[in-house]
Amino acid sequence: VPRIGVLALQGDVVDHMRALEAAGAEAAPVRRPAELDAVDGLVIPGGESTTMSKLLDIFDMFDPVKKRLDEGMPAFGSCAGMIMLADEVLDGRPDQRSFGAIPMTVRRNAFGRQVDSFETEVGIEGVDGGPFKAVFIRAPWVERVGDGVEVLATVESRAENGGQGPDAPGGRIVAVRAGACLATSFHPEVTPDARVHQYFVDMVRG
Ligand code: GLN
Repeated sequence: VPRIGVLALQGDVVDHMRALEAAGAEAAPVRRPAELDAVDGLVIPGGESTTMSKLLDIFDMFDPVKKRLDEGMPAFGSCAGMIMLADEVLDGRPDQRSFGAIPMTVRRNAFGRQVDSFETEVGIEGVDGGPFKAVFIRAPWVERVGDGVEVLATVESRAENGGQGPDAPGGRIVAVRAGACLATSFHPEVTPDARVHQYFVDMVRG
């Protein structure tokens, strides 16, 4: 049984642990380097990426997590976690840091005020069984993907976004995979459907 950590400095930790267990993994909160050493993969939850970045520094966890990611540890970032995995963050704070584990540009709070939070059904490449109910909460989207990044899901952009970013054909990118890293703009941990977590647990197993 793979042992998967959830970075537990800030954000949506308990829901991820429940979803990981539902997907057949052993889940453990990760706050210290020793706890990080004991896991085969890591979930970086939703929350606030600026706060998470700050807490990673305060708890001396930024470099240890970065090192594991550079060594190829599987990771799944949802929402703020997606931002943390990116190598470029738009509309971030100047002192905000990210791990650069996925070559992609992510725009924070990209869907704009009118659609601060919304739900929509998305088809996810590699996730069988029909569309997934995706919950977006002040979510980022992906504006650029680099080499080796596979787009797993998009949603149609909405008029009220006012033309932020490039007009990606087929909509805004909201889920990607690059090697051992998975990232979603939305929060699969807030619905009972554990298929995205299952996908990640299978990545860790493989
Ligand atoms: N808007 C948050 C950020 O920029 C992310 C929101 C979330 O994780 N639900 O970090």
